[in-house]
Amino acid sequence: MARQEIILLFWDCPECGHAHIPGPTQRCPNCFWWRDRETNFYEAPDSRVLSPEELEQFQGPDWICKVCGAANPERGEPVANLLCGNCQQWQTNSLDLGDAAPDDLAAGIAVAKKHGEWQDGFHLPPETAANSKRQPSRAKADCRKYGWFALIGLVAFGAVGVGWGLLVPRIIEAEVIARNWTVSIEIQELRPVREGGWSLPTGAYNVTSSQRQSGTREVQTGTQTQQVEVAYEEQVGTQEECTTVSRGDGTGERSCTDVPVYATRYRTETKEVPVYRTEPVYDTWYDYTIDAWQRLQVAVASGTDDQPRRPPAVSRGNSPYPQQTLAPVETCQVGVRYQRRQQVETQTWTLPCDQYDQLATGQAATFKRHLGQTALQSTE
Ligand SMILES: [Zn+2]
Ligand SMILES: [Zn+2]
Repeated sequence: MARQEIILLFWDCPECGHAHIPGPTQRCPNCFWWRDRETNFYEAPDSRVLSPEELEQFQGPDWICKVCGAANPERGEPVANLLCGNCQQWQTNSLDLGDAAPDDLAAGIAVAKKHGEWQDGFHLPPETAANSKRQPSRAKADCRKYGWFALIGLVAFGAVGVGWGLLVPRIIEAEVIARNWTVSIEIQELRPVREGGWSLPTGAYNVTSSQRQSGTREVQTGTQTQQVEVAYEEQVGTQEECTTVSRGDGTGERSCTDVPVYATRYRTETKEVPVYRTEPVYDTWYDYTIDAWQRLQVAVASGTDDQPRRPPAVSRGNSPYPQQTLAPVETCQVGVRYQRRQQVETQTWTLPCDQYDQLATGQAATFKRHLGQTALQSTE
């Protein structure tokens, strides 16, 4: 419901700071300053509704003195009769003020509501108050949630700490105490093997097939009724919202409307949901023979220090199957000795062979260890 009423406004004296002067009062009771067009009217908790008798004395916005700027109450007089209460000047005198009516104090401007105690007339029906008590366990749940976050955070922090040791490169000065190399060659043979799968590769022979379960699928067998909670908004009351505009004479026009207030409610609805059954899915499985390259043996040659790295001699045996040899693989390792936390450590590291070749046994060198890999930084 819309409601309109004329209420009393107030103003604060900008000259001396005296507060809460009733709007229609033209002069500050403390310093006698006359309010002017800069005066800010406001609504306060004691902005009462004016009676029809009181309203009769207001005939429009105040007029502003052409000479001193003071706001004078409007009495419905013609301009020739207007005499400023502050400076005692007629508004149409010999000072070239002209016959035009003076300006009015601005009206229709929204005013502020001062002091926090001012309240809208908002009243909730009792059932809404009961409704709002329905979420007591929320705080506790939040507490538990943050507890978990804290724990996960700690575990993650610990994991990062452990991982850090591996991720950060380490520079180690060490003495080379041994050097070893190997060259290995893998020999392969094309032999028939028995394999199986859901599809048949090219080159397969001696094929047998059978039906086997390859997985499952969901088949709808019907529906069933289920109870579900459905949320909806219900109006549980109204809230009065008011705005006030200045009338330019120390009073204000307050317009209030009732706006609806809603609450979330729940109702139970019945819903049809599908029901599924799990069924096996069958497919064709193949067992077959296929010729595939397989490791027969690995021939290894090894040596130390600067002995020339040569691949091992490969002897092809007396085999009915075709054979092939893979490219030789060189592996170079150094045995090292270094100081770590007042202790002598000895380790064996694998190095790229071109770096191995730059070293000599008994030599000191700087190595970089990172993610389990070793690289030669410099020799001394
Ligand atoms: Zn004052
Ligand atoms: Zn004046």
